[in-house]
Amino acid sequence: MNCLQHDSISRFKELVHAATNVVVVSHTHPDGDALGCVSAMYHYLSYTLGKEAAVLVERDLSSTLEFILNGVRKTDDISVLEGCDLIIALDFNCLSRTAEQFEDPIRQCRAPKILIDHHLNPCKEEFDLIFSETAISSASELLFWILKKVQGDTLRGLSKRALTALMCGMTTDTNNFANSVWPSTLEMASQLLAAGVDRDDIIRRIFNSYRSNRVKAIGYLLDNHLTISGSYAYITVSREVKKKFGIREGELEGLVNIPLSIKKVKVSITLTEDDGYYRVSLRSKRGIRVNRLAAASFHGGGHEQASGGRLYIGSDIPSREVLPAYVEECTARFLHSEKERI
Ligand code: 5GP
Ligand code: MN
Repeated sequence: MNCLQHDSISRFKELVHAATNVVVVSHTHPDGDALGCVSAMYHYLSYTLGKEAAVLVERDLSSTLEFILNGVRKTDDISVLEGCDLIIALDFNCLSRTAEQFEDPIRQCRAPKILIDHHLNPCKEEFDLIFSETAISSASELLFWILKKVQGDTLRGLSKRALTALMCGMTTDTNNFANSVWPSTLEMASQLLAAGVDRDDIIRRIFNSYRSNRVKAIGYLLDNHLTISGSYAYITVSREVKKKFGIREGELEGLVNIPLSIKKVKVSITLTEDDGYYRVSLRSKRGIRVNRLAAASFHGGGHEQASGGRLYIGSDIPSREVLPAYVEECTARFLHSEKERI
């Protein structure tokens, strides 16, 4: 792993050892990887190093992922930045990916900033030290290898909570080893299991602890709001449907993967209505770089096979009624250009 060079590890140690008060942050609407690596970093700072630390995170979290932050001092109050002398950012490439209310205060904070991430194109000018690696499963895996190196090639000194959080982050970003699995990913999993991490318990909590609302909403959405057109599929989740099933943050996680189980479907998109915009999730099969569609048509980006973005009602599309026409037009155009390439 190129980014784990001696210089970067030494600089990391210097910055962390010089700090007394650290704020740890990830991207808005944190997923399991975001929560896994901020939690592990927090436990490392507070348990292993005895630092004052806090995780700056939105209040509304997925109820099946919230446990990853057990034992973490978390806050959504930006005044925590006032006394901080180091910011550690994980699982995103640019500060614009943090929650809207956090972005400017973090930008203005004079503390040094470290980035640990696995997306393309980190915003170099925003950080003092960057660990960036895309040939890896997750930010949690990258943090695992960094911490192991920093500790002198051992996991000794890391708490069970930190190790468990790292396993959670890697497990969710690989969709339980279904994608983005590298040789290093299996090595990490093996070492975490050997260190006593309870993977069965993680699987139960993350994948088998939902409310029935989720399963019923997914059944309804697949039956009534799934459009399959040639090699792509999309699902629209309106506010009315969210209300009908009482859907909460994170409760439809994974829905976007389901249409990809159809042989001919190469791209799957979900568009979930929020206040004045749709949150867009995109997934694709190998060979189709859906982050290009996210950037071109949904103000977003991400990984080649898993990306996201937004579509604003009023500016991008005049009204909800034209959503299907917009999605179909831009996806068909995108697929045409990707196929030309292949
Ligand atoms: P999800 O569909 O699970 O919300 O997001 C999948 C991936 O897409 C994330 O891990 C992240 O890399 C990327 N992503 C999601 N939303 C956005 C966005 O609004 N902007 C950018 N640049 N990337 C996003
Ligand atoms: Mn991630």
